[in-house]
Amino acid sequence: MTAKILDGKAIAQELRESIRAEVDAQVAKGQNPPGLAVILVGEDPASQVYVRNKKIACEKAGFNDVSMVLPADTTEEQLLAEIDTLNARDDVHGIIVQLPVPDHIDPEKIIERIDPKKDVDGFHAYNMGRLATRMPGLAPCTPHGVMTMLEKTGIPLRGLDAVVVGASNIVGVPMALELLNARATVTVCHSATKDLAQKVSEADLVVVGVGIPNMVKGEWIKDGAIVVDVGINRLDDGTLCGDVEYDVAKEKASWITPVPGGVGPMTIATLMQNTLQAAYAQS
Ligand code: NDP
Repeated sequence: MTAKILDGKAIAQELRESIRAEVDAQVAKGQNPPGLAVILVGEDPASQVYVRNKKIACEKAGFNDVSMVLPADTTEEQLLAEIDTLNARDDVHGIIVQLPVPDHIDPEKIIERIDPKKDVDGFHAYNMGRLATRMPGLAPCTPHGVMTMLEKTGIPLRGLDAVVVGASNIVGVPMALELLNARATVTVCHSATKDLAQKVSEADLVVVGVGIPNMVKGEWIKDGAIVVDVGINRLDDGTLCGDVEYDVAKEKASWITPVPGGVGPMTIATLMQNTLQAAYAQS
C-alpha cells in the first residue's frame, strides 16, 4: 500500500481563504480587522523565517499586523512592559512571542504575562487548562491544526489507538489532550520511554514531534496506520525533513503528511483562526 497524502497545504489554504472572507465581511460592516502582534527578540535565523511567514499570513488574512523585532539585549523587564502595552491596546487581539527567547529571558514568565484572551499561541496555563478540561479556549496551534487537518480529510479518531512521540508543552502534550478529547486512546512517548519501536508499531495513528531527522523508522509503522509528522529539521544540504523516515513509512501507512507541506501550513492557518476567534471574543 502507498499512503495517501494528508495535504495540509491545501487544507490550510482553504482555511485561510475562509478567514479572509470573514474578515472582509466584518470590515465591510464597519468593524476593525483583527490585530496580531508577533514579537521577535533577537536574530535567530529560523525564528526570522517563522516570523516572516506569520507576517505574510497575517497580511493575506486582512489582519492588522503589529509585529515588532526587539534587539537581542532587550531585558526581561522591557519585554514584559511591551506585553503590558499590547495587552492594553484595543486594536491588538492576539499576541505571540516567538520562541526561543534569548537565555536571559524566562519564557514561562513571558507566556504567563500575555492576557489569556490574547494568547493566540495557546501556551498560557489558562488555555492549556481549558484544553485539559474540555472547555472552549485558544488551543495550541500545531496540535489544533493537526486535528483540523484530520477532520477535514474525513478521518474519524474515536476509538483509535494513538501514539504521540514527543511530550513538549507546544506539541506533544496538547496533541495528546486533543486526541483524548476526540476519544482516541492515547500513549505519550518521550526521551525516557522504553521500547519506542514496539509502542509505535501498535498505533493506528502516530503523531511525531521530536526534532530528530528520521528517528521514527518506517518499518515500525503498522500497516494502514495514519502518520502525522510534526518535525521540521533542516539538513546540511539545506533541505527540510521530518522526524519520520518518510520513504519507507509511506509504503506502510494509509495516510501520511509530507514535510514540508503537511503540518507546518496548518500551524500558521490555525494561528490566524485563533486570532479571529480572539477578536470575536473581545469585540
Ligand atoms: P522539544 O525539544 O521541546 O521537545 C521534544 C520532545 O521529544 C520532548 O518531549 C523529548 O522528550 C522528546 N524526545 C527527545 N528525544 C526523544 C527520543 N529519543 N525518543 C522519544 N522522544 C524523544 O521540541 P518541540 O516539541 O518544540 O518540537 C518538536 C519538533 O516539531 C521540532 O522538529 C520542531 O521544529 C517541530 N515543530 C514543528 C511545528 C510545525 O508547525 N510543523 C511547530 C512546532 C514544532 P523529553 O520530554 O523527555 O525531553
